[in-house]
Amino acid sequence: MNTFSEAAILFTTLVVGLLTTGVLVLLPSTWQGDGRSLRYWVIGNLALSLDRVHTLTRHAFEAGAQSELLASLATACVVLGAAMHMTALHLLLRDDSSVRDHRFPLAMALVVAVIGWLWSEPIAVAIGTSLCIARMLVICWPRRRDLRGALAMSAAMLFFLAMNACGLWVQLPLVLFGHGNDVSSMPVTVLALDLVLSVVVNLAFLMILIELLYQRVERLSVTDALTGVLNRRGFLQAANLQLLHAGHLGRMRCPASVLLLDLDHFKRVNDDFGHATGDAVLQGAARCAATAVGQTDVIARWGGEEFVVLLPGAHLSQARETAERIRLEIARAPLADKAPVVTVSIGVAALDELLAIDQLPSLIAEADRRLYMAKRQRNCVVTHDDSPDGALVPSGGITA
Ligand code: GH3
Ligand code: MG
Ligand code: MG
Repeated sequence: MNTFSEAAILFTTLVVGLLTTGVLVLLPSTWQGDGRSLRYWVIGNLALSLDRVHTLTRHAFEAGAQSELLASLATACVVLGAAMHMTALHLLLRDDSSVRDHRFPLAMALVVAVIGWLWSEPIAVAIGTSLCIARMLVICWPRRRDLRGALAMSAAMLFFLAMNACGLWVQLPLVLFGHGNDVSSMPVTVLALDLVLSVVVNLAFLMILIELLYQRVERLSVTDALTGVLNRRGFLQAANLQLLHAGHLGRMRCPASVLLLDLDHFKRVNDDFGHATGDAVLQGAARCAATAVGQTDVIARWGGEEFVVLLPGAHLSQARETAERIRLEIARAPLADKAPVVTVSIGVAALDELLAIDQLPSLIAEADRRLYMAKRQRNCVVTHDDSPDGALVPSGGITA
């Protein structure tokens, strides 16, 4: 057994761990976007590095007999590091951060240190690893539909599992055959494998972090902060995708409709009940409209108190029905606490055949013209008229 190569491998692992930490710290976007999760990730990496330092020191001084306490503390560092990484992921994946996140890693590291000290280190590692993996599964589970994120997670989880399993499989026989968990009895190939897996896991976490930050920024850039529906940019992106899915854009004849909604006398709500109530009404209106449309329809906040809906595959008659549903639902009851009942005017435009995405702006412009007509009366839907003179088709029981 070559002590020099073992020490070199451990040293390299340490350097790689610290270098990837450094790279992450230097990424300005990570500090600005998610400083807190990054701090957890860095502490996790430092904890993992501490374990390497401990092993390296033992090699350097060839200290065969090491203190049980020191060994179990080193194991606790590994578990603390992994748990800190889990916490960083958790913070990145959820939007609220009210929970005291550092409790879980610290409690787990403490339990592992005590078990390792009093009982056996492999058992402590097994418990710590299982808890980390269980936590990762719980964290990732609600996001399983997010394909890219889930794929990156699964890859990292597999590496993580492999690394821990490798560590355990090596340690258990050593313990069983009376070598303790003395690293100096491990073959150099196992240490090399450990190095490769540590690097891969480090890089996988780095990739996940960047991927999640990117997804979060992307999500924020297409979402309206107040109502949670898409904003104008998100609408155009999603419209493009949905039209493609619905078989539009040159592949087959396919209709499409657009609704443009504008709340009536909304300024009065603000003036009489305050902006907070106005905001709550806007959120309620977005909810109403979103529940009245189908899964493949695209809804977005177009401007202040205006919303736009794209109905891919919908003919004019279907679009008119949807618009009526939205209008009735909004006028049914107050949309927020201590708010008055508000109504909405809707302009509808439809094309029997939407062949290119650049037809969308003219369709929206058409809906806007009809919305303007609807505003003459309010609380009504204005669509095409089947009669040759193009008369309005108002609804809502208000006489124009
Ligand atoms: P009309 O029936 O003709 O549409 O009248 P209106 O009062 O709804 O339309 P107007 O364009 O005069 O006023 C729109 C108001 O919407 C003005 C603006 O203060 C309010 N508004 C726009 N964005 C927000 C928002 O995010 N929150 C709140 N509370 N109010 C908003
Ligand atoms: Mg308006
Ligand atoms: Mg309005």
